[in-house]
Amino acid sequence: MARGPAELVRPEILAARAYHVAEAEGMVKLDAMENPYALPEDLRARLAERLARIELNRYPEPTGRLLRQRLAEKMAVPGGMELLLGNGSDDLIQIVTLTLARPGAAVLFPEPTFAMYRANAVLSGMRPVGVPLRDDLGFDARAFVERVRAEQPALVYLAYPNNPTGVLYDEAAVLEVLRAADGLVVLDEAYHAFAKRSLMPRLAEFPNLVVMRTVSKLGFAGIRLGYLAARPEWVSEFNKVRQAYNVNALTQAVGLFALEHLERFEEQAERVLAERAPLGAALARLPGVTVFPSEANFLLVRVPDAGRAYEGLRRQGVLVRNFHGAHPLLERCLRITVGTPEENRILLRALEEVL
Ligand SMILES: *Cc1c(COP(=O)(O)O)cnc(C)c1O
Repeated sequence: MARGPAELVRPEILAARAYHVAEAEGMVKLDAMENPYALPEDLRARLAERLARIELNRYPEPTGRLLRQRLAEKMAVPGGMELLLGNGSDDLIQIVTLTLARPGAAVLFPEPTFAMYRANAVLSGMRPVGVPLRDDLGFDARAFVERVRAEQPALVYLAYPNNPTGVLYDEAAVLEVLRAADGLVVLDEAYHAFAKRSLMPRLAEFPNLVVMRTVSKLGFAGIRLGYLAARPEWVSEFNKVRQAYNVNALTQAVGLFALEHLERFEEQAERVLAERAPLGAALARLPGVTVFPSEANFLLVRVPDAGRAYEGLRRQGVLVRNFHGAHPLLERCLRITVGTPEENRILLRALEEVL
């Protein structure tokens, strides 16, 4: 008798759950921190023309050489540092984790945080160690550094700012972690366009620092493009783990195009940013709603009944993320992406109705 998945699949995979994405057809989509603004009209024909000339019969340039050059310039990557591109930063998280995966080696991160850090640690046979944030969702630097010393993790992930909380940790606390860790520290700056704080300029100071970013939150979630900057000796190891053609030709071309018109997308990010405070204030006026401070393009809110609020919003065509049950600190919490003024009005009206 042939054995089935229950006998052959690794127990940690049997126990895992696939990343769930809610059906969003026709919804006001405030669940995934996407840029709510479409590609500007005047750029569409130019992009189409560019894409039509790509040699789709050929394999892509394996390391995205031209795109790496332009990124290094536009993102002010310090001289002597090397870039690595990924099929989204999810791909980069997998590459970095796999590169350092020794059975039993620890991967440390504050919790709650981006679920991929733990998932990749588990899948690569490493030992995930989540260090709880404080009750107010702030970073407990002392407790974290203590755990760094105790566990001597091969790898530390810090989302800067954090997802799903929106909190930007103090730079001093991040530096403390960098100094205490003898393993690699990945600073995930997925929300750089909104928080505008970065350790990129200080990359050369810390031999164990990797700065990771993505274009996903800047209007290009659909192309799957992430990048990381680190010392060349790290990137050359990552390159051995990376799939040979992990960033396809269309993505490389759209990435270059996005950089050429970067100010247009940064403008869109500014429009989103301008909505964050008014939306937060309006949410905080609703009965029983607590809004946590955020430096990103989303707000974490605590409501009287998250399941009821989530379902009520969904019935009215508004999709957010329900984090109740994901972690004790996220009790009764929803994460709401900041949308266009119109989308935010629809959300507020719908939530008022539910509450
Ligand atoms: C959204 C997000 C990512 C995922 O980025 P992709 O490039 O779309 O894979 C990575 N890290 C954090 C903290 C995020 O919130």
